[in-house]
Amino acid sequence: MKSSDSLKAILNGMVDQLGMRKHPRLMVTRFCDGVGMSILGTILIHPKALSMPESVQRYVLAHELGHYRHRDSWNLFLSWFSLVVGSYVLWVIPETHAFSWLFMMVWEGVFVFGLGSYRNRQERRANQFAAELIGRGTVLDGIRAVAGYMWPGKPLSKARVTRIKEVGQM
Ligand SMILES: [Zn+2]
Repeated sequence: MKSSDSLKAILNGMVDQLGMRKHPRLMVTRFCDGVGMSILGTILIHPKALSMPESVQRYVLAHELGHYRHRDSWNLFLSWFSLVVGSYVLWVIPETHAFSWLFMMVWEGVFVFGLGSYRNRQERRANQFAAELIGRGTVLDGIRAVAGYMWPGKPLSKARVTRIKEVGQM
């Protein structure tokens, strides 16, 4: 397996450029849903990223650094947690409990839709952050290239096409 030193060097360069005092940890691991994830203080990168061209690696790292800077994993967890607590509180109020089946169906819709659109917002913001850091063209190429490396031969997912359109409009 190739070393992750080149990824570390790119990430350190970005951190210095931004004048960030705290460095995120970098971990290359297969335990990664997609090419990259940012969980609390750690950026996880899939080993497949080691064989990507440098400009694509720059996109992946800039995007994940965006999630890191916005504390997205923590905020997503808090949103999820408050929805769980909200569900419980509403469930134990007798008036809502009387309409429980209908109420819970509506609530489940709010829950799923709310978290989904919040995640989409985080993705948009991470790409916006990356575009400001490395340029919109590199981000656009990066989104397409990552799909080719991660899922070769497969058409671009709907979500990815949406991301490309969003970055195109930024
Ligand atoms: Zn992301």
